Amino acid sequence: MCVCLEVHGFSLCPSVNFNMTPPAEEVRKRTPSDYIFGKVLGEGSFSTVYLAKDIHTNKEYAIKVLEKAHIIREKKTENVMREKEVLRILGNSSPYFVRLYWTFQDPERLYFVLSYAKNGDVLSQLEKQQCLSIECARYYTSELILGLEFLHDRGIVHRDLKPENLLFQENWHLLITDLGSAKIMTDCDNENDDFDKRRRNSFVGTAQFVSPEMLTDTSSSYESDLWALGCIIYQIVSGVMPFRGGSEYLVFQKILKLLYDFPEGFDRVAKDLVEKLLVIDPRQRLGANDEKRYTSLRDHAFFNGQNWDDLGPPPAMFDTSDEPNAKIIPDHLEPGLDEEKASRLHLDLLTPPPEPPSRKKSPPNRRITDLTPLEIQQRLEAQKSNIYHSFVEDNLIVKQGVVDKRKGLFARRRVFLLTLGPHLYYVDPVTMTFKGEVPWSADMRTEAKNFKTFFVHTPNRKYYLEDPEGYALEWCKAIDDVKSYYYPEKT
Ligand code: ATP
Repeated sequence: MCVCLEVHGFSLCPSVNFNMTPPAEEVRKRTPSDYIFGKVLGEGSFSTVYLAKDIHTNKEYAIKVLEKAHIIREKKTENVMREKEVLRILGNSSPYFVRLYWTFQDPERLYFVLSYAKNGDVLSQLEKQQCLSIECARYYTSELILGLEFLHDRGIVHRDLKPENLLFQENWHLLITDLGSAKIMTDCDNENDDFDKRRRNSFVGTAQFVSPEMLTDTSSSYESDLWALGCIIYQIVSGVMPFRGGSEYLVFQKILKLLYDFPEGFDRVAKDLVEKLLVIDPRQRLGANDEKRYTSLRDHAFFNGQNWDDLGPPPAMFDTSDEPNAKIIPDHLEPGLDEEKASRLHLDLLTPPPEPPSRKKSPPNRRITDLTPLEIQQRLEAQKSNIYHSFVEDNLIVKQGVVDKRKGLFARRRVFLLTLGPHLYYVDPVTMTFKGEVPWSADMRTEAKNFKTFFVHTPNRKYYLEDPEGYALEWCKAIDDVKSYYYPEKT
């Protein structure tokens, strides 16, 4: 069945309008088979980003893949279309934004072919180094301001600026990404944002970086990005976010009351800049009233001596100690992205793990074949207090546990219940609903890939399973035991 959803003249129907006109040098339509898909670079709430190589040019790209059904189910069609539109507007005229080269689709997925930021994101660097030196902070804040000048001059508000969305190119210049929450301003936006808010129902962006006006009233405008800029400067200088709390609610309360303080030793001039950006009234934020963007930011003492016409090369003080082979696309892979390939890439099975870490062992369990009928009866009685008993049709549970069941791009967390019978049921532990059963037969076969990942092969399907606790081998052994009990001739 084709699920159609039209927004602003775009459609998620296969072959209608999503595909973007490619740059002049390449007019042929693109398909997944034009690329070899390699490692998963990152996962967002609605997408998976793969490293991919163009088979014609050998050029590397980051391809963002979105599952149509998931986008429609989560009502994110508008965001996807907006991201595409904003990236189209930005084109390749700013060095500080990720570039969209092509878009295309197949019946299940949408593909954005983006410039590949080889050196990860600012958040990962903060995790490695805790915070950036003042010199680095000044440099990257300057690049971010130049990016914001460009974006705002084109009437676009990012609305989800945060260290995760600031990537590093191969030459360590900044690349701003994730424009799915962006807003294209119109003349009446400032006076009447109510409509936008009512439609949204909830704030956009990320809790810790969201501005007070996006929480309280209806508006989000260029100044919301200036607020996020203040939060980012605070975080890269100190290593922590200004507004922290055990829940989103607590974080919001702190934002609304401007409850934050500076750790000891926080650079005095950077502190002054942050204080001038983290101001409740958006109109009072530094830069908000600039006739020419963002002269008042450029003139702040934090940037003393900065040559805004040429920032020079990035300061070379990064931790580049990533595993050397981590981002390589193995030569033996075929072009294209089908479900099996996607699952394998997700499970990181392209390259064998170096040395398997010592495998986790579950407590010894008696083999099912060793139990007497009386013992089985006694265990069944005891099992009645198990919250999953109602799902197993009075069969004795031999093994149960959380397993991530992967299908295509997405993994679903399930509780798997291996029982006599034999059965291998799975239940959604959040909604406590029965989800299905892996069909048993004498031909069922297990395959452990590493201590987390295992496959169950059935005649018609291969189940990609992952035990987050690392008991994959135990699962395979338990299933094999049950199999040998019921199908001795096959083992
Ligand atoms: P969110 O849940 O934040 O909305 P999303 O679905 O919009 O996320 P992105 O943030 O665009 O997805 O991408 C997810 C991750 O993939 C990023 O955090 C980053 O690690 C990686 N990534 C995205 N784009 C690129 C790129 N061009 N080059 C390298 N890595 C990238």
